[in-house]
Amino acid sequence: MAWKKSSAGLLLAASLCAAPLERFEAVEPHMGTLVRVTLYAQDSGTARKGFTAAFERIRQLDETLSDYNPSSELMRLRSGPPAQVSEDLFRVLSAAQDLARETQGAFDVTLGAAIRLWREARRSNRLPSEAERRLALQHCGYHYLKLDARRRTVRILQPGLQLDLGGIAKGFAAGEALSALRALGLPRALVAVSGDLAIGDPPPGKAGWSVQVDQPLVLHNCAVSTSGDTEQFVEIGGRRYSHIIDPKTGLGLTSRTGVTVLARDGATADSLATALSVLTPSEGRRIARRHHARVWYTPPQ
Ligand code: AMP
Ligand code: MG
Repeated sequence: MAWKKSSAGLLLAASLCAAPLERFEAVEPHMGTLVRVTLYAQDSGTARKGFTAAFERIRQLDETLSDYNPSSELMRLRSGPPAQVSEDLFRVLSAAQDLARETQGAFDVTLGAAIRLWREARRSNRLPSEAERRLALQHCGYHYLKLDARRRTVRILQPGLQLDLGGIAKGFAAGEALSALRALGLPRALVAVSGDLAIGDPPPGKAGWSVQVDQPLVLHNCAVSTSGDTEQFVEIGGRRYSHIIDPKTGLGLTSRTGVTVLARDGATADSLATALSVLTPSEGRRIARRHHARVWYTPPQ
């Protein structure tokens, strides 16, 4: 009893001596966008270590998951025999395939060929021809991607199939950067990779981080992602198309819906926001419920 008392006293003394936590923020370009890390630390040296670890984790993941970098691990995958992949790539592909099955392909990371064709259309301001779209879609389909969790291998069954993790990688990376900060003893942090937020423990003395989603929310230990055509879109022939592809047509969506998802982790929030942009609101709400996620549509649906 005496020992317990004195140890509590010691703890109290330690916490009284500890410097109060200060807020630090840093921004760096990664994954073709800006990444903002906000954290609470006792001093600038500790904060700097946190920033270095968080940005380094994101840089590493970009090297693995990028579809822009031809030498990324993702882009080196080819059709043929099963290939063993890194744990990071396997985790992202597994989450993506689970959601592809659940949404019957509304979310589909094997859409690379159609996405590339669509990017070209956005650059040239010209819709792809029917034949071009059909050809691209022949090289897409989540059924052509087989994962083996025991061996951690990936097998692509369709030659010419291209993977694109643009709908999930940023949220995953935000969550991983947050985990890197937590591992360093800096859990009071928020990582924003563009519109994908991973939110850690609350700032000192607060119930959570203030995030504006439709209404202002106070959040901790969760993730928020927004998808939609507000920033990335193209107008061709008087119609506005999103950068999110309708897997049935191979064209950008024209529904002009913004979707924000609040979920337990970054990969889930990011992939759900993309998936729900493709699905109808009633299908979307059903899927969101299964993930214990909340969803907001703009304009409200
Ligand atoms: P986000 O901004 O998270 O909604 O992701 C959009 C990105 O996801 C696009 O730029 C593509 O790289 C990729 N993408 C587009 N359509 C789909 C789709 N139907 N399923 C999965 N990924 C997609
Ligand atoms: Mg997304």
